[in-house]
Amino acid sequence: MASPSPDLMSTIVSLCKRRGFIFQSSEIYGGLNSCWDYGPLGVELKRNVKEAWWRSMVTRRRNIVGIDASILMHPKVWEASGHLSGFTDPLVDCKVCKERFRADHLESLEKCPKCGGQLTEVRKFNLMFKTFMGPIEDQSATVFMRPETAQGIFVNFLNVQTASRLKPPFGIAQIGKSFRNEITPGNFTYRTREFEQMEMEFFVPPSEDEKWYQYWKDARFQWYKDYGIKTENLRMREHEKDELAHYAKACADVEYKFPFGWSELEGIANRTDFDLKRHSEFSGKSLAYFDEESKQHYFPYVIEPAAGADRATLAFLIDSYSVEGEGKDARTVLHLHPSLAPIKVAVLPLVKRDGMPEKSEKIYNDLLDNSIKSFYDHNSAIGRRYARQDEAGTPFCVTVDSQSMQDDTVTIRERDTRAQYRVAASSVVEVINQKIKEAQK
Ligand code: ATP
Repeated sequence: MASPSPDLMSTIVSLCKRRGFIFQSSEIYGGLNSCWDYGPLGVELKRNVKEAWWRSMVTRRRNIVGIDASILMHPKVWEASGHLSGFTDPLVDCKVCKERFRADHLESLEKCPKCGGQLTEVRKFNLMFKTFMGPIEDQSATVFMRPETAQGIFVNFLNVQTASRLKPPFGIAQIGKSFRNEITPGNFTYRTREFEQMEMEFFVPPSEDEKWYQYWKDARFQWYKDYGIKTENLRMREHEKDELAHYAKACADVEYKFPFGWSELEGIANRTDFDLKRHSEFSGKSLAYFDEESKQHYFPYVIEPAAGADRATLAFLIDSYSVEGEGKDARTVLHLHPSLAPIKVAVLPLVKRDGMPEKSEKIYNDLLDNSIKSFYDHNSAIGRRYARQDEAGTPFCVTVDSQSMQDDTVTIRERDTRAQYRVAASSVVEVINQKIKEAQK
């Protein structure tokens, strides 16, 4: 296997555009900095990432339920959570080249890393986007675009707990958009100002916090491995005490070795009882849980695995990318996990005659009727068609050839091994379903 090109990021960005994974937002107007649109393949991939997360965090668990809270919330939420006063990044500008930096991302504040010029004093910059609710743009109408989905879960804690009759330990999960006016967005979809989070707040008796913190660190690390990220490209980094957010007792990041260096994919934090207590204090409504057994109220501790759908999608794309073979035989392959792959099957008649297209159409329809996202392609030589599918990450190709017209069998070709075998045309749906199920975690 040849090693990926040195400038892997720009290769990925151009592949994403060419194949319809990710486009720049408002491109015909020159683009909008740090905003990206998912195209036909990208939207499938990202939906599959979110679906894989939901399956592992909610569907398959008896004690975790989901919600979908609104993005705009009562402004007091952000006072109580500490975001209004504390959700800031330290910012410095270069007095000479005017470049802006996050002070905590610089090795030294002595001089500008770009031009060597003098830097300004560090200023605190609040990352929340503000807007106005209703027609009057005054202070009392100010609302914020949520910078994390978690607060929608905390303020609904008792609603959900009472409606679902769950007892700690139990969790509430949510996937949704968040907004942060990042000082230095960049690295493609890694750091943007509008992004999607996948967060779960796990409410536990205070004495069990450390056990569950460890449990979720292990479970979340394993999830990335289960869906194909290479172990050598993943690591867990425990935060130093001085790195911890104001609410956290402990925090660890799952980091991925991106082409631009080790960077956070997901954070797992022990948020203690901070949020439930603060919302009780600020709203005047107690969010304490009543324990039937001890007949006492208490505030559960919260363990939070907080992941980013866009960062995870980017990591899956990068990690699955490889260039195989040499010279004109070189082929680009996305070894995406079958559950994540945007298209599961490509149906390919060997030639455009002798009844092969009709037979292929029938198989294609069967696959679609069974909700298996598939693609039909009869243009160009078969090798080129396989190559196009490899580059889109399609795990299986079904080829209809002259033998198919005689014995009603077709060839299944697997992307990763390039193994080929024949199966009855009537069993394609079953075989593919089985293959996807086997791979699914
Ligand atoms: P960073 O240190 O990279 O700014 P963070 O520690 O502030 O991230 P969290 O508040 O823990 O991030 O958010 C949880 C997850 O949400 C992150 O691990 C990441 O996957 C995602 N996320 C956060 N900010 C962004 C962003 N600006 N763009 C894309 N994803 C993001």
